[in-house]
Amino acid sequence: MKKMLILGAGTAGTIMANKLAGALDRDAWQITVVDRDGEHHYQPGYLFVPFGIYSPRDIVKPRRDYLPRGIDVIYSGIDVIDPEKNQVRLTDGRLLGYDYLIIATGAHPEPGETEGLEGEGWRRNVFDFYTLEGATALSRFLKHWEGGRLVINISEMPIKCPVAPLEFAFLADWWFTERGIRNKVEIEYVTPLPGAFTKPKAAELLGDFLDRKNIHLTSEFAIGSVDSAANKIVSWDEREVPYDLLVSVPVNMGDAAIARSGFGDELNFIPTDKHTLRSQVSDNIFVLGDATDLPSSKAGSVAHFQADILFDNMLAAIDERPLPAKFDGHANCFIESGFNKGLLIDFNYDTEPLPGKFPLPGIGPFSLLEETKMNHYGKMMFRWVYWNLLLRGAELPIEAEMTMAGKRR
Ligand SMILES: Cc1cc2nc3c(=O)[nH]c(=O)nc-3n(C[C@H](O)[C@H](O)[C@H](O)COP(=O)(O)OP(=O)(O)OC[C@H]3O[C@@H](n4cnc5c(N)ncnc54)[C@H](O)[C@@H]3O)c2cc1C
Repeated sequence: MKKMLILGAGTAGTIMANKLAGALDRDAWQITVVDRDGEHHYQPGYLFVPFGIYSPRDIVKPRRDYLPRGIDVIYSGIDVIDPEKNQVRLTDGRLLGYDYLIIATGAHPEPGETEGLEGEGWRRNVFDFYTLEGATALSRFLKHWEGGRLVINISEMPIKCPVAPLEFAFLADWWFTERGIRNKVEIEYVTPLPGAFTKPKAAELLGDFLDRKNIHLTSEFAIGSVDSAANKIVSWDEREVPYDLLVSVPVNMGDAAIARSGFGDELNFIPTDKHTLRSQVSDNIFVLGDATDLPSSKAGSVAHFQADILFDNMLAAIDERPLPAKFDGHANCFIESGFNKGLLIDFNYDTEPLPGKFPLPGIGPFSLLEETKMNHYGKMMFRWVYWNLLLRGAELPIEAEMTMAGKRR
């Protein structure tokens, strides 16, 4: 029996397990998936929890329900990967061999990486919303907050879903307006980037949005520490930003098992071929989703496009054929902009987000780089698509390769 081992059953690992289970001969292949626990979180939903739009019930489901029948699912921590022996040791001591390994262990926030972030203010007036615990604690805090200075800070790039902190700022503007206290809340968006976003054209548009919503942008702020006693964040070049409420996006890192295995970069992301998704560690190890060191966005949509590419390449690798499929960095992100409206961006390694219609050229129904109600509905519909189609590896009407059809230069 040949062994296909998938580490991580989040977005990327689950899609891949479903695709491979439908394609590999079950008499010849044993597919095993490992994850530390049995709860699958719809992470894009964390954004809505602080504002009471989603509750934990809406975004957490049993992991097993989304994995195919007939495969082995193991709930355990992953301790270390040994590419020399084609073996993975789990934290419960078990050893798993493999012929092919797919690493899909994702990225997670590490607040301990920023001095003082987990100090006395942590979860009192300093919160994150990149975990369910953080988002839930923040929702309790916001219910009773009467106003002051809200500072939203990105510690360092890359982060998962780089538009999520902007969406948080836009939703905060809407939420305080709805509650009738917007005039009592000053909102400041503090980022290490030179502008509101990573891509220059979208950064200009999103910067205008911040302006229009009276959200102050502080750019090129590389945070050095959080001073919880004085309620201020301090940059390495000694600029200070005071806050009453700090919403932080902590440093995002790959899993510590990658560091223990000796092949991650300084943030534990895995060196990966940007087109084939083969790891640079070994020819029989492939990497998918947020765990890669690629310059693509760390997003569920990217994990989905990459899974289409990796599926073709994995079947070719098994047959000892050259890898045919090339990932182009395609990302597709709805951006919730508040007041039941949203934007949509579609881009890849080489092409910046452009205006136009999506997915049907000239028709839409979604509009690129434009604020519409339909884009908001797209964002809210995505949760259903995620649970019912995307995780199950179903075909969606969006190609893995970015298309220029419908886009205007
Ligand atoms: C607030 C927020 C908003 C977001 N919004 C969007 C959005 O609007 N659109 C979008 O496309 N994406 C969005 N994302 C990003 C998206 O959720 C991720 O990019 C996506 O989940 C990545 O999939 P993955 O499989 O690579 O990682 P994950 O889904 O995080 O899965 C990794 C899995 O590996 C497991 N694992 C890791 N290490 C170990 C170990 N040592 N032992 C055992 N198991 C381990 C974890 O338990 C986890 O289940 C958002 C993310 C956040 C946090």
